[in-house]
Amino acid sequence: MWLKFPECFKNAESGGAASGFAYVPWAMRIVHDKELCANHGQCVGAAPELFKFADDGSLIFIDPNPPEELREAAQDAVDICPVQALSIVED
Ligand code: SF4
Repeated sequence: MWLKFPECFKNAESGGAASGFAYVPWAMRIVHDKELCANHGQCVGAAPELFKFADDGSLIFIDPNPPEELREAAQDAVDICPVQALSIVED
């Protein structure tokens, strides 16, 4: 995802004068609350491109900063988690 900001946000040394706009990358990050997670595995089923179980049964991310093409899969995993242990933040 790309966000449009006035140039003055991008470069404070400009004196604050907005001379145009800049497009800056906005990365998606998946946050996992290990305290809440009960290893149900629905997220693994909803988004196997993003999650899997380790040999010890703990949930591991395949990619905690997935590309934009996987946003729908990430959102599906967030929505299906029965204890709301997953969330998406934009960095
Ligand atoms: S669905 Fe939620 S509780 Fe289950 S393994 Fe995934 S993050 Fe953990």
